[in-house]
Amino acid sequence: MNNLCPICSNQTRLFGIQKGKLDQRDFKIMTCSGCHYSFVQNYRSDFSMIYNEDYYRGRGADPMVDYLYELQHPDRSVRNYEWAGIYKIFRTHCPDGGRWLDFGCGAGGLVRYAIKRGADALGVEDGWAANQGRQAGIPILHLDELDSYSGQFDFISAIEVLEHIPQPIDVLVKIRKLLKPGGILFLTTGNARPWRTRLLNWSYTQCPDVHISFYEPQTLAQCLLKSGFEAREIESFTGFVEIIKFKVLKNLRFKHRSRALDFLPWRLISKIVDARYQVSRHPFGVAV
Ligand SMILES: [Zn+2]
Repeated sequence: MNNLCPICSNQTRLFGIQKGKLDQRDFKIMTCSGCHYSFVQNYRSDFSMIYNEDYYRGRGADPMVDYLYELQHPDRSVRNYEWAGIYKIFRTHCPDGGRWLDFGCGAGGLVRYAIKRGADALGVEDGWAANQGRQAGIPILHLDELDSYSGQFDFISAIEVLEHIPQPIDVLVKIRKLLKPGGILFLTTGNARPWRTRLLNWSYTQCPDVHISFYEPQTLAQCLLKSGFEAREIESFTGFVEIIKFKVLKNLRFKHRSRALDFLPWRLISKIVDARYQVSRHPFGVAV
C-alpha cells in the first residue's frame, strides 16, 4: 500500500488504532513527520450511511452535533455565539459587505444568521440537514451547482468541514475557484499541534467514523499554498472570544444560551482556552 502523505509526499507511519463510535471497528490513524498531517487510513466512504438523519440530530457518530435543534431554536442555541464570532470575522475582512458562501453549511444556521444582519450569503451542502434548511427557506446550493459560481465570492467560510474530508487539497482547489482574486477563506478545524504526541487522546480523533483528517497550522498552510492561496496568520482575536465560548459550552454539553452564562468573563476564559488548545493559530487563506 502507498503510505505517502497526500499533502507533502513524505512517508507516513501508523500512529495508533482508534475505535469507532458507531460499531467499534478499528480505524488506523496515520501521521506524516513532514507536514504533520494525520488521517484515518481506512476511513468509511459510505457517507450517506453515516451522514444521515441520526447524525444531524446528534444520535450518530458525533453526539455533540444537533443541527435540527439549532435550526428550530436559532436564538436559544449556544451555536448562536459561534455564528456571532464568524460574522464578526466576516465584517473584519469585508467591512463594506461582499458575497459570502458558507461551504459545508449543514442546515444553514450561519447563513440565516448572516442574512438577517444584511449579508449577501449563501450556503452549500447536500444531504438531510441541508434539505431541512431549504425547507426553512435558507438559500442552500447543491454541490453540483457550484460550477456556475466560479469567481463570485468575496468570503468563504468552512466551519468544521476539513476534518470530515479525505482529500483536503481537492476541496480547497474547488473553494479557490469560487473566490474572487483576493477573496478570503476562513476555516475552522481542530488544531492537532498540542496533541502531536498523544493524538489518540484528542477528542477530534475519537470520532474516527466521521473525523478523518487532522491538521496542525503548518499542515493547513501547506494545503492552502498548494491550492492557490496565500496562508496568513490571524492578526486579531476578533470573533474568537465568541467562537471559543461556543466550543467550551458545547463540550460542557450546554445547549441553551442564558444570561448567567453571559456574565462569565469570556474574554479571559477564551484566552486561557486558546493558550491550551490553540484554536486561533490556524492560518486563513487569501486567494492569489
Ligand atoms: Zn505530509
